[in-house]
This record gives sequence, C-alpha cells and structure tokens, in this order.
Amino acid sequence: MIRFLLSASALASILTVTACGQPAVVEAPVADTPDQSQTRPAMVAAANPLAVEAGLAALRAGGDAVDAAIAVQSVLGLVEPQSSGLGGGAFMLYFDAQTGELTAYDGRETAPASASPELFLDENGEPLSFYDAVFSGHSVGAPGAVAMLALAHGDHGELDWADGFDAAIELAEEGFAVSPRLQSFIAGMAPRSPIDEWPASRAYFYLEDGSPLPVGYQLSNPAYADSARAIAADWHNLYSGPLAEAIVDAVQAEPRPGGLTTSDLAGYQALRREAICRPYRQWTVCGMPPPASGGVTVNEILGLIEPYDMAATGPETVEGWRRFIEASRLAYADRDAYIADPDFVTVPAEGLLADVYITARSNLVTGTMATPHVTAGTPAGIGAPGLDATPDSPGTSHFVIVDNDGDVVSMTTTVESVFGSHRMAGGFFLNNQLTDFSRIPVDADGQAIPNAPQAGKRPRSSMSPTIVFDAEGNFVLATGSPGGSSIIAYTAKTLVGMLDWGLTPQQAIDLPNVVAHGDIVRVEDGMPTDVLAGLQGLGFTLDANRGEISGIHIVRRLEDGSLIGGADPRREGVALQP
Ligand code: GLU
Repeated sequence: MIRFLLSASALASILTVTACGQPAVVEAPVADTPDQSQTRPAMVAAANPLAVEAGLAALRAGGDAVDAAIAVQSVLGLVEPQSSGLGGGAFMLYFDAQTGELTAYDGRETAPASASPELFLDENGEPLSFYDAVFSGHSVGAPGAVAMLALAHGDHGELDWADGFDAAIELAEEGFAVSPRLQSFIAGMAPRSPIDEWPASRAYFYLEDGSPLPVGYQLSNPAYADSARAIAADWHNLYSGPLAEAIVDAVQAEPRPGGLTTSDLAGYQALRREAICRPYRQWTVCGMPPPASGGVTVNEILGLIEPYDMAATGPETVEGWRRFIEASRLAYADRDAYIADPDFVTVPAEGLLADVYITARSNLVTGTMATPHVTAGTPAGIGAPGLDATPDSPGTSHFVIVDNDGDVVSMTTTVESVFGSHRMAGGFFLNNQLTDFSRIPVDADGQAIPNAPQAGKRPRSSMSPTIVFDAEGNFVLATGSPGGSSIIAYTAKTLVGMLDWGLTPQQAIDLPNVVAHGDIVRVEDGMPTDVLAGLQGLGFTLDANRGEISGIHIVRRLEDGSLIGGADPRREGVALQP
C-alpha cells in the first residue's frame, strides 16, 4: 500500500475499509477542523459552460461536490457527447474535507463475459485495424460512469439523486446550441465513421440535405431526456430494462457485433479503491490507482525529478524541460510495461513508487545529453512482461468541483474515442473503451501482455484525476485532463508548473504541452525557439510545433482560502464560482 509519507504530526492514520470484498477507501491526511459556521468558496471548472452552470446550480441548491458532479456529467453527456456520457466510464477522486478521507471511485467499463484475449483478432488471427476495432461492437464495455456516480452519491450526496438530471433533461428537451468544437467533430466524423450504418447517429447530427449541423444549431434530444429521466428515477434503469436492452441491441448490431449482454450490464459494479499518494517536496500528490495508470505514472514522473532543483530551471530553460522529458520517458516506459487491471494481473504499483526504485531511476535523469532509448525498469526485481503498444485517441473530459464545505471532486470521464464507438442508444453514445486493451494478447517475443482483454476485466486507462494536499493535509489543488495516454504528461506539466515554477493554474494550463512517450518528443506550438533548439542540440528527436488537445481544468486554493481556477483554451471550458 502506498502511504502518505508526511511528518508524524501531519499524518492521519491510514484506514482501509473493505467494501464489497473490493479494495478500499483510504484516509488522507486530516485537514484542520473546518469552521462549520462558515461556508467556504466554491468553484466548478469543466469543459462546457452549460455543464458548469448545472454544477453551480447544484451547489447553490445546497448540494455537495458529488451532487454537482452528477449535474455536470449529465449535461456534458448531452452537450459534449464526443467526450463522455451515460454510455461511458470515469474515475473520480473525492476528498471529504470534514473527515479528511480521500476515496478513489472506479467507474471503468468492464469487458463482457464472452471476451477473451483474442477479442480484437480477425478471422485470420490478425489484429483488427484500430478503427475497425473502435467501430465494432467488440469495443463497447459495460458503462460505469452512472454506477460510479450512484456509489459516490450514496456515500456523500446531499440532494436527491434525481435532482442531478434536471438541467440535462431541460436542455435535452428545449435544445442547446451546437458548439464550435462539437460541430467540428460532427463535420469530421463522416469520412471515417460507419455513421451511415447508424441511422440514429446520422439523424441526430445531420440535416435532411445531408449536411452536418451548423454551429449554433438548436439541437434537442428527446431520447436523451427520456434516458435521463429513467436514470433519475433509478440509476439501475441504465443496467436493466428497456434502456439496457437498447444498449445491447446497438452493441450486437453489424458490422462485427459485440458480445455485451444484459447480464453483463446487470452485473456491472463500480468500485472504491485506494488512492495512490506520494509525497512531492512539501506536498502529497494523490491520483487514481490501477487500472488507471495516471496515479502511478504522474507520481513516478514527479519522483524522478524531485532530486533536482526544478524551481531553478523554469519553463524558459532547456534544462527544466530536459528533466521533465527524461522523467516522462522513463515513467511512461514503466507504465506501458506494467499497468493493467490489478484484479487480473499483478501490478507492481508499490515497487514503481518505492523510494529505492525511484532513487535509482532518477539517476538516469542526471545526464546532459538525451538518453538514446528508454526501457522499462525492474521494480522490486520484477521483470518486464510483454510489451504493450496500445494506441488510444482523444475523447474524454476532466472537471473539478470544490463545494461550500471544501469537499473536492476531481473526475475524468470518457467514451474513449470521439463519440466512442459511434453507436447510439437512448440518445447517447456507447463507449469504445475496450480498445484501451491491447489488441494483441502476446508481444513479438511471445510474452503475455498484462493489458490483454479478458472477461470482466477493466482496460488500462491513462486518466489522471489528481488532488494535491499540503503538509497539514489541507486541500491545495485539483487537476487533470483528457488526451489519451498524453493525459499523464498534460497533468504532470500542470503540477510542475504550479508547484515548482510558481505558475497560476491558468499559466500552467497555457504552457506548451510536452509529451515524451517513447523516443519521439512531441512539443506543442508555443515553445520558445531557443528551448527547441537547445533540446534538439541535446539529441532529442522532436516533433515540434504541433497541436495538442489537452482539456485541463484546475481549481487551486490560495493561502487566504480563496479559490482560483483555470480552464484549457484548447477546449471550450470555464472555471466559475456560484
Ligand atoms: N480512454 C482513454 C483512457 O481511459 C482516455 C481517452 C482520452 O482521453 O481521449 O485512458
């Protein structure tokens, strides 16, 4: 178990509570006892203003952060359907300011009972192409976001569960304006998508003359309103009954029908897990444990740069970015090799974050020239298993909510690729999350790949909802992003930006993204030319001046108790107070 390595006085006892025979809830360092007589400032930062407004309305009504999360998610599923929704999955960190308890909620999709390691092999035993796999019924896992929110609501909700769907139902019935970003994905979906085979998806997004909906089009979705109403009445209505049957019909349709059944849906279980927390300088950084790779990998990146004086080598320096790049490459190599669903394979999460391993690996960051090639290490003497090279593509949304009691939600939520599998049921898109599994069961050397599909297994994720605490266990900030496996780099950048480089949340978001996953380093447009030239001079192979589609949302508490937020200009979000 990863423990909070704080001073004895600051460290609360680590209490594990087994729930449903599953992992666990862990107490974060206990914060100063909050003053019950005063409400604290609240904030919602999310990818769409309508969703932010729904979250703020829940807070104004006296809701908890988790009540606001239900409202934000149900609206995002309608107005930002390319990223997340009722047919997708999610991970959420929840910090209860009163008890100091931090809970990691796992709403990751699961593979159906019929799934095997050969899920994405064709009739000849060859892996399907990525897009053939995405658009097949095989890619759809049992959705987990709704069950996860219901679990968290049972633990922390203060408003009625049904209230969380009011805003979404109203918008679905009255219509909402198609945003420029949504429009760009609608216009871009036809060439690659089998949308013509999906009358529901096609009718929803295209006018009768065949043209895609324009920006500002007032789009209503009565089917979504009906689904939201059914789920509001009882969240189980997503998992059994007419809605579940509609999901299964869509999954089992041609081309390449998938094996998801109503019993797979009925058997879905959201989980409470133990957050991954590790000290970083005077802070404690907590993230999502496996099957998400975010908590381990973000903390490994930070651990690898911790011995170095990052504050002295700021974002305008070659040396600052060299360290960030080398640490990212090393941590990503470990992530690719080892992280998968811990309920199916042994994941050496503790070994990867153990001081002895981190210290040895951080020595590899010492050099002056670029390391030519980086491979996985051997944490706690465990040899690397089969090499996984699972691609993923960017759907997904991240939001942060701080409520008036100081409770915090940091949640990343996804249908995986843009519009998921492009299959629709009940007015929402079904995920293609199972393509986050390796499409091949063994690597070129014949070694089994831990992240291969299996019945009931959760595919590895890169999602990295993160919460940072100070030495006394008080909430400092929450961050996270969409972006496929680049989520880890985007999130780590914001942490280095704020904690080491003294940037505001917005400045940290605005820094160019640098994604060092493998031997090619992607550098976003906006990096100073002398830094680019310097990195090239050190021998890095750069893919420079490219676009990056992070969608980072942050809320940070300042020393005077006020909140400051940031929203990623690469998307359409805002950070607002009630
Ligand atoms: N499916 C990815 C994951 O869970 C996220 C995809 C994305 O951010 O676009 O890691």
